[in-house]
Amino acid sequence: MGVIARYREHLPVGPSTPEVDLKEGSTPLVPSLNIGKALGLEHLYFKYEGLNPTGSFKDRGMVVAVAKALEAGHRVFMCASTGNTSASMAAYAARTGARAIVVVPSGEIALNKLSQALMYGAKVVALKGNFDHALETVRDLASRYPVALMNSVNPHRIEGQKTAAFEIVDELGDAPDYLILPVGNAGNITAYWRGFRQYHAAGRATRLPRMVGAQAEGAAPIVNGSPVADPKTVASAIKIGNPASWEGATSARDESGGAISAVTDIEILSAQIRLAGSEGLFAEPASAAPLALLFRLVRDGKIDKDAVTVVVLTGSGLKDPEASLKSVEPPIELDGDARTLAKVLKL
Ligand SMILES: *Cc1c(COP(=O)(O)O)cnc(C)c1O
Repeated sequence: MGVIARYREHLPVGPSTPEVDLKEGSTPLVPSLNIGKALGLEHLYFKYEGLNPTGSFKDRGMVVAVAKALEAGHRVFMCASTGNTSASMAAYAARTGARAIVVVPSGEIALNKLSQALMYGAKVVALKGNFDHALETVRDLASRYPVALMNSVNPHRIEGQKTAAFEIVDELGDAPDYLILPVGNAGNITAYWRGFRQYHAAGRATRLPRMVGAQAEGAAPIVNGSPVADPKTVASAIKIGNPASWEGATSARDESGGAISAVTDIEILSAQIRLAGSEGLFAEPASAAPLALLFRLVRDGKIDKDAVTVVVLTGSGLKDPEASLKSVEPPIELDGDARTLAKVLKL
């Protein structure tokens, strides 16, 4: 079942909304076996969004945005993207026979994300400049031409993305104490907060979580309180200097008694490798930012040890292997037999 079928009553869909799905959502909430123990946290979970059909949480919102765009008669979808939005939009466009146009910041997107958009048949334009410039450009174009803008400024994206919060509550039986996730354009933190509040209002949860957002130090406009003209970070999915849902993120933070803080690229890559090496979960660098922040919060004594904590792993590690390979030993090159192999392996 896709997210529209599973959560129809909570979504802006009706009898005239076409059925669209790639069986997105219903991703596993994986209990930590090793990191939680090492940190002294009894109830640590990972919401593994990398298992969505195109490898990131973007599919949840995209399926609703695509269904609504088709309902409104659109046949051309467009977005600016750091990679995952374009992969997702292109897949749903392919599935529904619509045209997909993707504008990416030239030279800045991970190869595997680009390959997805191209394989799904999107027209890809690599625009000189950063993501914020690409988004400005497509917003301007969409205001003048008959194309459906599929960025997270599209309100249906946020609606679909809130289903991840529903799934967490449905599985745990209540909201967690802390929900920790990366913040780029800030659509996802806005969506989760909406989802938790709606479930709480509907009596499906007895409490609301503290919303904790992680930005990268070189791309931390919300933490700094002002836009960053030239954002820099290895975590390309959150390399954003002027988030479209800024207000949504600060509301989620303030209304929930949460926080948004920055972590360094070194902390991100080291959290990523620890997650893969000690839990068997390979997530892309942006997804490791909230885990890096959790390490710091625990070190500073800011997390209650018996709290239920959920870290959202927003995208698959297979999305951006180049970024990850910088932090591991390369393979051993060997020309030899079993004996030489055993010797090299010190067996
Ligand atoms: C899009 C994305 C983010 C950032 O989400 P926002 O809604 O833009 O804050 C984080 N991680 C991954 C893997 C993403 O694709």
